[in-house]
Amino acid sequence: MSDNTVIEVSELHKAFGDLQVLRGVDLRVERGEVVCIIGPSGSGKSTLLRCVNMLEQPNAGRVSVDGVDLTDPDVDIDAARRRIGMVFQSFNLFGHLNVLDNLTVAQRKVLKRDKENAETVARANLTKVGLSEKEKSFPNQLSGGQQQRVAIARALSMDPDVMLFDEPTSALDPELVGDVLGVMRQLADEGMTMLVVTHEMQFARDVADKVLFMDGGVIVEQGDPEQVIGAPQHERTKSFLARVL
Ligand code: ADP
Ligand code: MG
Repeated sequence: MSDNTVIEVSELHKAFGDLQVLRGVDLRVERGEVVCIIGPSGSGKSTLLRCVNMLEQPNAGRVSVDGVDLTDPDVDIDAARRRIGMVFQSFNLFGHLNVLDNLTVAQRKVLKRDKENAETVARANLTKVGLSEKEKSFPNQLSGGQQQRVAIARALSMDPDVMLFDEPTSALDPELVGDVLGVMRQLADEGMTMLVVTHEMQFARDVADKVLFMDGGVIVEQGDPEQVIGAPQHERTKSFLARVL
């Protein structure tokens, strides 16, 4: 594994009871890379992301983040997880906290930042996602797209080494998708390392360094976006793209 490798997954297996969901997944994300995962519903994309930060315990295989093997039982999983920002389809903001407090609570509790420092970081990230006017708003006063941008700013406030996105725009009204994708494009341009599950093929084509097509718990095909989305080789990739494009 090179020093530039941020995420390395090898031979990952995950089952829920008799259901084999991940059946030997290998992937690698280098520093500064954007890797997009596409594939049909139920193919194991969310389970894969959840195994990368150990929200799910794999049955076999290895997950390394910044060279630390997260499947090692002796590893400090909370410390390792702090390096990983995660943004879900459902925004998961704290409804009883205003936007600023949503962004500072984990910084203070987990990173032990003082209030002033945490608020400075929070405001910088709110500005980055275009929501500096909203720091006193509560989540239910914001649109879905604004809530998702707050969720991104909250993850960024923990200074992650890598950001995982699980269909961050799937729950949004179509007219709100563009703002969220715009923030993600900007992050990519700034060099953030990103692993993104998405159905937004245009985003994957424009932004990804690498696209992985997943089906049935394995990565069927991977490569440049122009190759995988533009000129897929496998029948399963072709039929999936025919349905979504
Ligand atoms: P995707 O994100 O590609 O739609 P998922 O990883 O969410 O796929 O799910 C893959 C399969 O695993 C599905 O059949 C789903 O029902 C099943 N699954 C996911 N999480 C669980 C769980 N916690 N318990 C049981 N089955 C699960
Ligand atoms: Mg999913």
